[in-house]
Amino acid sequence: MIYYCKNCKQVVKPKRYIGFGTVLMIIVTGFMWLLFIPFYRKRCPICYDGGFIVFKNSGVYEEWVRVEKQRELNRTPEWIRNIIIKRDK
Ligand SMILES: [Zn+2]
Repeated sequence: MIYYCKNCKQVVKPKRYIGFGTVLMIIVTGFMWLLFIPFYRKRCPICYDGGFIVFKNSGVYEEWVRVEKQRELNRTPEWIRNIIIKRDK
């Protein structure tokens, strides 16, 4: 699985965060809370946000990047596009 953070605009390794609230709940519930940790939402390690686009594999991701780039290029006015295309060659 590939996680792309919409906020950071890059591929990240999401993590679950065990904060003070979680530790408190574990103590209060007599460790019963540990059962809920696997259901915690994974978050981006850079921005702590969870807005991900999830890709099955790197092939799907690369295809998406290609489509996004094309879409970006289509939004660009023609005279700028010409400069970019010339520079790419
Ligand atoms: Zn992020």
